[in-house]
Amino acid sequence: MQKPIYFDYAATTPVHPSVFEQMRPYFMEDFGNAGSNQHYYGWVAEEAIQKSRAKIAQYFKLPASSILFTSGATESNNLAILGFLSDKKPSHIITSSIEHKAVLAVCKQLELQGWSVTYLMPNKNGMIELEAVRAAIQPTTALITLMLVNNELGTITDYQAIRLLADQHQIVFHSDATQAIGKLDLISDHLPHLMSFSGHKIYGPKGVGVLVVQSGITIKPIVFGGDQERGLRSGTLAVPQIVGLAACFDLMPDLIKQAQILHAYKSKILDSVPNTWTINAQNGHTVPHILSISLPNTDWETLFQRVPAIAVSNGSACNAKTHLPSHVLKAIGLSDSLALATLRISLGNTTSASDIDFLIDYVNEKLVKL
Ligand code: PMP
Repeated sequence: MQKPIYFDYAATTPVHPSVFEQMRPYFMEDFGNAGSNQHYYGWVAEEAIQKSRAKIAQYFKLPASSILFTSGATESNNLAILGFLSDKKPSHIITSSIEHKAVLAVCKQLELQGWSVTYLMPNKNGMIELEAVRAAIQPTTALITLMLVNNELGTITDYQAIRLLADQHQIVFHSDATQAIGKLDLISDHLPHLMSFSGHKIYGPKGVGVLVVQSGITIKPIVFGGDQERGLRSGTLAVPQIVGLAACFDLMPDLIKQAQILHAYKSKILDSVPNTWTINAQNGHTVPHILSISLPNTDWETLFQRVPAIAVSNGSACNAKTHLPSHVLKAIGLSDSLALATLRISLGNTTSASDIDFLIDYVNEKLVKL
């Protein structure tokens, strides 16, 4: 069977060959446990961890101690939110209805513990407006958690303005930046206080992520054990994955440059969309690699059966198994059936101009008559 062309980079990316090469020695020759501080094998592993930490910290212009390694963005989000709030009396949190489940499910747990949560609604373009955040602030608000780029719509949140607002009100701001790293130039003085991301969305391996914790922000551990990561995230460090994640940061200049090419590809696809289809977040401020198109009056199962030669999704991969309409698309006003009949097309570093031409012709040929 010929493999379909991959248009699902927001779900995951292939590991870049140079990333894989840098990881390779740490599986077999230099396989030590970074916690084994009595011998050579442990020292080599520990050195690799420290270099990786320093490289990522340097990218964000932060001290190395700001970088905590986790198993991925899901764990980073849990550690950021639960770790920051665990020693506080239940009060108020601001988030949005379009967050990833790795934030929404944590907020639901906190509600069970007595926290009150405001779920901000996006405007019709899928944007969380600064004024909505401002209006939701209460004297008891302890945390604002808003994603930097939405994984289904590609909409970009104004994190710099929210950070300033949070500072004015002495509230801590966490952001799930999983879909933003490698797509937006985030080097800035106004990064969120806490920021989560994952290796596998930026041409690194799965099963590794980072929580960035800015100086002055205190979090408590949520898993307990051998006290790795200064006691904040116990568990043997995944040395090859961490080396791989750090290696992704060598790719950053190219990835950011490539965003311009992806922008042109995205415009070409959007220009080809028949006017009876809906382009979601059309007038929103969006990243170049994600686009979302819905087909009115279309059965979603038939829709996906018609396009076996392209690998696209109808929401986030994490929701795909449920066959429920996406909570994000519903939040911007789509009906259940329109939300299900949605193609999320996401582009990446192996997407070529001819892939885009194929996609446009193929989608038009297979779907226009539906
Ligand atoms: N947040 C966002 C915005 C995501 O897109 C994803 C991946 N679908 C996650 C969190 C979860 O990341 P991980 O798979 O690394 O836990």
